[in-house]
Amino acid sequence: MSIRFYNTINRKKVKFEPITPGKVKLYTCGPTVYDTAHIGNFRTFLFEDLLKRFLIFKGYEVYHVMNITDVDDKTIKRANTEEMTINELTLRYTEEFMNDIKSLKILPADKYPRATEHIVEMIQMIQTLEKSGYAYETKDHSIYFRLDSYDSYGQLTKIDLTKQRATERIINDEYSKDNPQDFALWKAWNDEDGKVFWESPWGRGRPGWHIECSAMSIKYLGNHFDIHCGGVDNIFPHHENEIAQSVSATKGLFVNYWMHSEYLHIQGDKMSKTLGNYHKISDLISEGFTAEEIRFTLLSAHYRSKLNFSLNQNQEARTAIQRITDLQQRLFELKASAQTESSIPDEFEEFVAALDDDLDTPKAFAVFFGWIRSMNNFLDRGECMPNQINGGLEFIEKFDDLFAIIPEMVIVPQEVYVLIEKREKARLKQDWKTADKIRNLLHKEGWLVEDSPSGPKVKPKK
Ligand code: AMP
Ligand code: ZN
Repeated sequence: MSIRFYNTINRKKVKFEPITPGKVKLYTCGPTVYDTAHIGNFRTFLFEDLLKRFLIFKGYEVYHVMNITDVDDKTIKRANTEEMTINELTLRYTEEFMNDIKSLKILPADKYPRATEHIVEMIQMIQTLEKSGYAYETKDHSIYFRLDSYDSYGQLTKIDLTKQRATERIINDEYSKDNPQDFALWKAWNDEDGKVFWESPWGRGRPGWHIECSAMSIKYLGNHFDIHCGGVDNIFPHHENEIAQSVSATKGLFVNYWMHSEYLHIQGDKMSKTLGNYHKISDLISEGFTAEEIRFTLLSAHYRSKLNFSLNQNQEARTAIQRITDLQQRLFELKASAQTESSIPDEFEEFVAALDDDLDTPKAFAVFFGWIRSMNNFLDRGECMPNQINGGLEFIEKFDDLFAIIPEMVIVPQEVYVLIEKREKARLKQDWKTADKIRNLLHKEGWLVEDSPSGPKVKPKK
């Protein structure tokens, strides 16, 4: 079956076809590194990770660029209040972000361009826009995009431009919805910017937020690429403005598919820094969540539905993950030799079809967990053939390539079990000397043995 994605620009699901067969160029708006990213941000980054893993699973070669917004109104303001340089501030939060990405098993992007390293490209794009009459300079030497020079403005957001009051300008990077006005491409330096400025043909200043993503996406993915993602709050004005600038500068096509993930809510409100109702990844880890439980919690709803978060969701995640690992362990113990054919269950096709349909995770999960139930019944009745056991393990492996919610399985070598058994026998005979010798030997080999009422337990030494 072909893949269908909901394309925000079409307001409906459409067939996915990349520009170059077999290859997908993907741009995802990255974090603004003025503070630690919260789990609302990570809901969007995890949706993008699922999208990427799914495209790879379908056989596409994906080239992924995620920008790092390291200069905008927020970063400058925060650096000033913290009495740090903007570079010190943004490096600190970029490093934190990279650590969170890694601990959540998010596949790394091929490039993480930083805005401050692409000022030249931004200036060039603004000059192109100015030369062709799409942009103009104001008295203070800022540059604005002239909205009435771009007829198709509002195509992503479906904004009614008749409500617009002509010739008003917007200096802030973020502004309220339904208020489309000429927006800043280049902001002339003012006192509040302190030491943050770059020289430009218009004097000292800094770029606007929207031009950052246009310049960096085009530099690394070309004028026309396949998919551009973000959270729904990126649709307007950020992505609408990106389209206006990019199409006007290149005079051609920009992005084919726009995909946006819905908000993570908490107690009914959008999780946000401004409202202060957010959790960081490190908060969840200290509350006892594992990376896999965070992934499960944030990925189990459909990416276009709002998801309400609460701290007790880790119990649900833990139970679901346990059901997978229990079956995996059962199948692993029965695993037939490698030569035996593997017959993947019929449910696999249904599972993939759900994901083909605009990444319908709730449906895919329902199919997968339904299969787990019937597979367990099957095993209870001892009706499983070796090829079905191998096929079951294959299904679980493919599921995990997409969702990455199964913790790494520790495989204990047979020799370790033999030594543990010997130690148990020695202990029964109260031969403590031999028992201790074996425990030390296991310790040297990297294994810890803990005696429990149900017998000895072995785990790798950290
Ligand atoms: P920012 O660091 O503010 O630029 O945001 C990074 C990404 O997180 C953007 O794609 C936002 O749309 C997204 N985002 C922000 N808040 C939420 C939320 N509560 N739920 C889902 N995505 C969010
Ligand atoms: Zn962006």
